[in-house]
Amino acid sequence: MRADSFWAARMQTLVHLVYPPRCLSCGGLVESDFGLCAECWRDTPFIAGLGCDLCGVPLPGSSDHAEHCDECLNIPRPWTHGRAALVYADTGRRLVLSLKHGDRQDIARPAAQWMARRSRDLLRPDMIAVPVPLHLHRLLRRRYNQSALLAEHLARELGIDWCPDALERREATPSLDGKDRNERFETLQGKINVPAWRTRMVEGRPVLLVDDVMTSGATLAACAEACLAAGATEVCVSVLARVAKDA
Ligand SMILES: [Zn+2]
Ligand SMILES: [Zn+2]
Repeated sequence: MRADSFWAARMQTLVHLVYPPRCLSCGGLVESDFGLCAECWRDTPFIAGLGCDLCGVPLPGSSDHAEHCDECLNIPRPWTHGRAALVYADTGRRLVLSLKHGDRQDIARPAAQWMARRSRDLLRPDMIAVPVPLHLHRLLRRRYNQSALLAEHLARELGIDWCPDALERREATPSLDGKDRNERFETLQGKINVPAWRTRMVEGRPVLLVDDVMTSGATLAACAEACLAAGATEVCVSVLARVAKDA
């Protein structure tokens, strides 16, 4: 063991004595950092088997080629593939809400590891990870963009570039809560773009669009269209959690 890693291990032990590792979800004691206790792990709906190739929602059975869910068969998706690590339910929902509203930035790294496991097959040469943007007002109120945190850690896991502000929301869009699918798509149309000074980040490259949760897909669609308009060669999507209709 090298001296610095020896001291790093010592420090780690010391930190654990003072701050023992806690479950990300319930705060109970766990064995190692960035983990879930056995109970929360069981209550977290990880997506492991067959998923829709566009939105990641779990599908029944197995298949040797790309399958699409009913929703994605009915709504045009401007991206080519999408993956989700969790279903937005139970502990999956709680983790997303804690990351978004609860100032729990520590969730981003393990969450990105779950996303990386699910999204690795989307990797393309020269790909860049880009988060779904928050409008400046919301960013100032919340102090951080949870999608940017996920994009940063996901890019690190996958060994690709990332750019926190390749996309911008030109105006504050009203909350999408309570809006139906058509209203959501209308509200966001043309509201997100790649600013001129960031065009060179996405031009001629494949983009991995990152968000915490996908509901209707309206926000991701607006972002994907903006990337393609700025010259991205392809857009893929990686989200932490996918809202499943029957969840
Ligand atoms: Zn727990
Ligand atoms: Zn789908």
